[in-house]
Amino acid sequence: MTITLGQIRIDPVAELDHWPFPPAELFPAVTPEQLGDHRGDLDLSITTYLVRTPDQTVLLDAGNGNAKERPVLLAHHRFDTPYLDRLAAAGVVPEDVDVVVATHLHPDHCGGFTQLAGGSWDPTFPRARYLIASDEYAWLQEVHAAAPEGGVAADLARTFEDSVLPVVEAGLVELIDLPYEVADGITLRALPGHTTAHLIAELSGGGQHAVVSGDVLHHPFQFSDLTLAQGGDADPAVAAESRRTLCELAVERDALVLPAHFGPGRIDRDGDGFRYRPVQSGGA
Ligand SMILES: [Zn+2]
Repeated sequence: MTITLGQIRIDPVAELDHWPFPPAELFPAVTPEQLGDHRGDLDLSITTYLVRTPDQTVLLDAGNGNAKERPVLLAHHRFDTPYLDRLAAAGVVPEDVDVVVATHLHPDHCGGFTQLAGGSWDPTFPRARYLIASDEYAWLQEVHAAAPEGGVAADLARTFEDSVLPVVEAGLVELIDLPYEVADGITLRALPGHTTAHLIAELSGGGQHAVVSGDVLHHPFQFSDLTLAQGGDADPAVAAESRRTLCELAVERDALVLPAHFGPGRIDRDGDGFRYRPVQSGGA
């Protein structure tokens, strides 16, 4: 599925097509009414977006990456996926990538910044500028500096060490303030709550719009109750506000929504709330 916005070409590249979670693990406050007829696990994906302008190749989210040790966050532990082959199938080898941006620094979005090479973690995209929001970087650096011995914080500290620090040490990271224009038609904006400085990427070309929304929402049924928090939301109230902001923005611009963990779609107003309309194939 290639999406075209004027001169901008967007290819979703999935790292994982199926990533199952028990509903209550993902959404601790979920009610039977919200689940409706749904039975069993919620099936997420891990999807990144390759965006090509006439002169820039930009990767929005880099996935979890292979072989990462995540003994606490076991759903992120020791992946072995053909993600780079899938990127190649979309016509891009790692050396082609000019800019890498993670919507936030959770392991399934920035883990792919690095790959294991001869026992060390090397930048996966050796020529790229890795853009990281300053506040997001400061948050994860602090988690790491506290040297947590266990819990989720320990895996976040590992993420800093094996996925972020190596690209910093290679001189590839540029800390940015938001909003930030990456290229003509690609603007990064803060939409916080899931993490300190979670960002979205607004894409525009030929009078059409799309938005790479990262983890502002994790599953379409959050549209029925935008206050439904995901277990990892750092600030649930701000995250809920950001979900509404994203919906308003997408409706206003008739933007195609490109989430990290479920399929592309459009958002319609539904009374006081919103409804998600998945887009199965082609065209924006
Ligand atoms: Zn995620």
